[in-house]
Amino acid sequence: MLYGVVSPTACGAPLLQPVWDEIRERSGERATPLWSACLAFSAHVLLSALFLGLDVLGPRVPWISRYRIHGKPVSLRGWFRCLVRIAWKYALCILPVSAWFGYAGFAQHERAAAAAAPSLLVACSECFSCLLVFDTFFFFVHYTVHRNTWLYKVFHQSHHTNIHPFALAAQDSGVIELVSQQVLAMFSTVVVGCHPVSKVLFHLLNIWLAVEGHCGYDFPWSLHRMLPCFGGAPFHHAHHQHVTGNYAPYFTHWDLIFGTAIHT
Ligand SMILES: [Zn+2]
Ligand SMILES: [Zn+2]
Repeated sequence: MLYGVVSPTACGAPLLQPVWDEIRERSGERATPLWSACLAFSAHVLLSALFLGLDVLGPRVPWISRYRIHGKPVSLRGWFRCLVRIAWKYALCILPVSAWFGYAGFAQHERAAAAAAPSLLVACSECFSCLLVFDTFFFFVHYTVHRNTWLYKVFHQSHHTNIHPFALAAQDSGVIELVSQQVLAMFSTVVVGCHPVSKVLFHLLNIWLAVEGHCGYDFPWSLHRMLPCFGGAPFHHAHHQHVTGNYAPYFTHWDLIFGTAIHT
């Protein structure tokens, strides 16, 4: 897509222009290679903290417990241990990989992009396209890993130690799986060829959907209640319970096509 032809005054463009200006400004800073990894980690922890609040309040507020998919919330110690596991994997692997991508020229590429932000409509359609592409890649990789015992044990089994998933556990995976998920997400944005602003929005949306899919709550206002094509927390909870089926992270169509959907 030729962003140079998008006028800053086009429909919705002024809305995202401050976001794009901020990204362009930061892309000139020395810390750029680490910025995306730090943002991803912070966003994951902060969004998960919303559900930690619900887990803490749940025993005292009955209406919260009513929406839990399984009875007992994970203990504070369980949350803390999970946080430590994710933090050291970010420190040892995700940050260096992110730094390498940054120094390899990705930041320079972003800096060279057009001055105009995409319109809101373009950003939304690119985000949605990225989600569809990521969902497709993830489904086939996830399906393959579950079909091969060696691959499952080496790359994915650690994620399934969480039989009852909770929000923070969305990134509680082995190091290779964690890195490959980041690479899949980055590759999805390359396939779609989206604007850097759409890329940031997609990564944030991706983190939120992963957190929501693992949260362990089935609220009436959850996304999957409004959009039937979304699986949501019950869909992915069933995957953790059965350790088979429901391989797609967000949408349900691939599991329906391949006959791997578990009805929830
Ligand atoms: Zn999971
Ligand atoms: Zn799995």
